Amino acid sequence: MANETLRAVRGMNDILPNEIGTWQHFEAMVRAWLTSYGYRELRTPILEQTALFKRAIGEVTDIVEKEMYTFVDELNGESLTLRPEGTASCVRAVIEHNLVYDGGKRLWYQGPMFRHERPQTGRYRQFHQIGVEAMGFAGPDTDIEHLLMTARLWRLLGIADAVTLEINSLGGAESRTRHRAKLIAYFEAHQEQLDEDAKRRLYSNPLRILDTKNPALRDLVEAAPRLMDELDDAARAHFDAVCAGLETAGIAYRINPRLVRGLDYYNYTVFEWVTDRLGAQGTVCAGGRFDSLIEQLGGKPAPACGFAMGIERLLALMTELGQTGAVDGPDCYLVNVGEAATRMAQTVAETLRDGGLSVVLHSGGGSFKSQMKKADASAARYAIILGDDEVAAGEVNLKALRGMAWGDTQQQRVTLPVAVDLIKQGVINGNL
Ligand code: ATP
Ligand code: MG
Repeated sequence: MANETLRAVRGMNDILPNEIGTWQHFEAMVRAWLTSYGYRELRTPILEQTALFKRAIGEVTDIVEKEMYTFVDELNGESLTLRPEGTASCVRAVIEHNLVYDGGKRLWYQGPMFRHERPQTGRYRQFHQIGVEAMGFAGPDTDIEHLLMTARLWRLLGIADAVTLEINSLGGAESRTRHRAKLIAYFEAHQEQLDEDAKRRLYSNPLRILDTKNPALRDLVEAAPRLMDELDDAARAHFDAVCAGLETAGIAYRINPRLVRGLDYYNYTVFEWVTDRLGAQGTVCAGGRFDSLIEQLGGKPAPACGFAMGIERLLALMTELGQTGAVDGPDCYLVNVGEAATRMAQTVAETLRDGGLSVVLHSGGGSFKSQMKKADASAARYAIILGDDEVAAGEVNLKALRGMAWGDTQQQRVTLPVAVDLIKQGVINGNL
């Protein structure tokens, strides 16, 4: 029907002006934190060739099998996919632009990711991640840097008490080959307990069975052969070094031998930061090492590790804990009452902005009283009041708004340059 109300796509959310303060507070903290560790932003397109994600994430994974938004570009028949995660694109860009061969690079990215999942609290079809990747670094010091970094971010955001760290090692290729054979034998012996997904993956990607979300399989998975028992000396030494680094830094962690992650590219260290404050969707940050991904996508071999955090889940946790930051209003709200004042208002607002202030200009007329109410509601620090008298005198009335009802304070009549100075100094009227 022509007049049917159009709605956003299911599982894809608008972020409304009354929610954006928390996002911007979070983003500002995160930017400063990333800079303090020397990471630089990399922006990649939201669309990539489908083959990139198939090769990076793995054909037999939840993401590639059932969660990708994939379509054919009708102009040239190419298969394209909305990115479901950020690492594949980062690696593609690093290879394409030759970014790592003159030494390691510390990179980060942010933005929307797309997965066709069943929408529920903490699980959306468009969600946002901030990811960090250290490309070209082999040693456990980089894994440790990432864990220390994330621990610091939780402190900065005021959520440190609500998250715990789980880590595991997936070993190298040989350990995984040995483990795979044992897993297949184990699950073959318990065929009758497997669900559809698990049966299908038994020979193609048995490790994925360990990542099942089906509670009926929990006991079976719990008793399955552990990758941790197959680690060779190098993998064991790397893992021990990471654990030692955490102990030196005083970061508590739990070794979870069942932690395998949902993407095929990981090896050695994997980790998740989890909370019990958000119900079922409790993983707020996850990552690990992916030493063969660059080579696997056609680059010269270079080791790497990284992590991604789900912004919606972190914001939900911050909100749950009352850590959303203050919402800042503009410096001033320009009230204009009367014909001459309204005519001058635009010019006065521009002059205030020339002076470095942020100004919301009242539009649409109305009484002094109703405009002052709007000024109050705007969260502005000051009201600047322009009436015809003030225009005639070349002055404005200045009134502090924050922390007091608008009727309570005195006004102060000053010239525009003085108003700018007073507001910049944060001087409240009466306290000059
Ligand atoms: P989950 O086990 O919850 O499905 P995942 O293993 O698929 O997570 P990753 O691919 O590792 O998740 O993504 C990293 C982080 O991104 C997750 O820990 C989570 O915080 C967030 N995330 C993943 N999928 C979604 C989604 N559909 N909606 C909101 N956040 C998500
Ligand atoms: Mg998932």
